[in-house]
Amino acid sequence: MTIHVLSDQLASQIAAGEVVERPSSVVKELTENAIDAGATTITIDIRGGGRELIQVADNGVGIGADEIETAFLRHATSKLSSADDLWAIRTLGFRGEALAAISAVSRLTIVSRVRDASAGVRLVLEDGKIVAREMVGAPAGTVIAVENLFYNVPARLKFLKSVTTEKRLIDEFVTRYALAYPAIRFRLSHDGRVTFQTAGSGATADVLLAAYGPDTARQLMEVATLPREPGPSGGDRRAIDVHGFVSDPALTWAGRNHIQLFVNGRMIRDTRLTFAVIQAYHTLLPVGRFPMAILFIDLPPEEVDVNVHPTKVEVRFRDEGAAFGAVQRAVRASLMETAPARGLGSWSPGPSGGWGAFRPSGDYSDTPSAQLDIPWQLRGPEQERSIEGAPSASLSEAPEHRLPIMRVIGQVGAAYIIAEGPDGLYLIDQHAAHERILYEQFLAQRQGQQAASQGLVASATVYLSPSQTRLVEEQLPLLASLGFEIESFGPNAFSIRAVPAILTRSDPAGALAAVVADLENETPPLKSETEALVIKRVCKTAAVKAGQSLTREEMEAMILQLEACEVPHTCPHGRPTLIHLSAALLARQFGRT
Ligand code: ADP
Ligand code: MG
Repeated sequence: MTIHVLSDQLASQIAAGEVVERPSSVVKELTENAIDAGATTITIDIRGGGRELIQVADNGVGIGADEIETAFLRHATSKLSSADDLWAIRTLGFRGEALAAISAVSRLTIVSRVRDASAGVRLVLEDGKIVAREMVGAPAGTVIAVENLFYNVPARLKFLKSVTTEKRLIDEFVTRYALAYPAIRFRLSHDGRVTFQTAGSGATADVLLAAYGPDTARQLMEVATLPREPGPSGGDRRAIDVHGFVSDPALTWAGRNHIQLFVNGRMIRDTRLTFAVIQAYHTLLPVGRFPMAILFIDLPPEEVDVNVHPTKVEVRFRDEGAAFGAVQRAVRASLMETAPARGLGSWSPGPSGGWGAFRPSGDYSDTPSAQLDIPWQLRGPEQERSIEGAPSASLSEAPEHRLPIMRVIGQVGAAYIIAEGPDGLYLIDQHAAHERILYEQFLAQRQGQQAASQGLVASATVYLSPSQTRLVEEQLPLLASLGFEIESFGPNAFSIRAVPAILTRSDPAGALAAVVADLENETPPLKSETEALVIKRVCKTAAVKAGQSLTREEMEAMILQLEACEVPHTCPHGRPTLIHLSAALLARQFGRT
């Protein structure tokens, strides 16, 4: 191999790859430029998920006709002049790479006019080279249109996700920047339809409403700036201000991607600070569930290095511990303010869950609990194998293994049913068990056909974010096949007319929102997997919750139905439904053997 210098074109394509990974990165760079230009209105128009067109128009300072070519050179910026500036960056951009990078991998048209110029200038670039230039009449500000993104980088094109995914990433990005800059009026449209807009009122609460809808917005609590603490020397401790919004512990997600952090107005990723948010919720959230947070961390620019990553999404704090502590304290303070009213640590998971199809189906209600000499009937020879085995209170691994007949003794902590079986004691998690029962009933009843649906007397309305709206639209056929009858109800809202029959007793809007949250966290590639995900969520919503006391009849009916399940030992999510304490184990524990 001979060593040679790369052609200019190839070198700039490689450099572009670092900055523009996908359509949403172009939206990010252009929006950041508009913000840096002091715009008060930013209008973003997308076609084909950004592959066909990304157009960002602003009313900022504009670029002079004498400078416009320079703006497209690599490392050309108006935001940085000396090395010292690098340590006190107050703008979102500073590397002077974005315009050069984007124009290298698309066909780009820019029209810009500075306020006191009599005319604007229009420039067209292809492959990073200027192919047209003219003076034009134009409003003050800048419009940049990026067409055919990555047309000359087929490898990059191949890695793009579906149009819907790219749209969702753009939606997420724009709503987050709108939250960070509430005084800017944002408008986003996809294929000619406005999907998100803000009033530019300056109030973050207004943007929250536009971004997440009233249902979620209502469950967000403000994180207010805490008074500065004096440092050890009596002076000001490092001035880190944290404010924003966090979710009520009752509102949770399966992933941490709803925790969004901004440092000095810049959207960043930071695992440690994300963890600080989660830790502030310590004991308030169910295991495996995460809060939502939009936090603005402001500190003197010299305290943070933003020049760590080409896309500037990672930053380094001079005092990382201080940032961690500030975030944790601020979130915790906000939680504590509202928590005592609800009783810390005992968030009841909402209204009593629906019972759905779950009804006693056998007459076991008069079995006296003191009568211990009932002969244990086993269902068949294969059930005769003991499910004991391992020395600890463990479960049989054999999936075909059914449960023995059990007799209900009572309920503990309004969460577990105690039952006696042929070989010792069983503790049954009522929620997990009911989830399993409903899941198998749902699948059996469905058998590939339309699932039973229950019309609502009064249709319910659910308000979603633009990206969630997209998800629902995408999954409408699947949702319909599972019994949801949903219609669009204005932008980012749906009217629910019917729900799967087992959800009859549940809150329909809450159930749909939970399904959407799951899909948002992961939409599996296969339709069948997506379907399973939705069914599991529906069953989880319909299942009785921990904290609900059950009558003996209800417990007995539940045990009977669990016995009838194909896979009774785990809930559809894989958690155990019961723990078996075998007679042998009990004897060992009591020192009887
Ligand atoms: P950077 O933002 O890092 O400076 P860019 O390549 O994104 O680099 O932009 C280069 C320069 O072009 C900016 O420094 C700025 O002077 C000018 N510019 C880019 N976009 C705009 C805009 N929307 N309005 C005014 N000036 C802009
Ligand atoms: Mg820039």
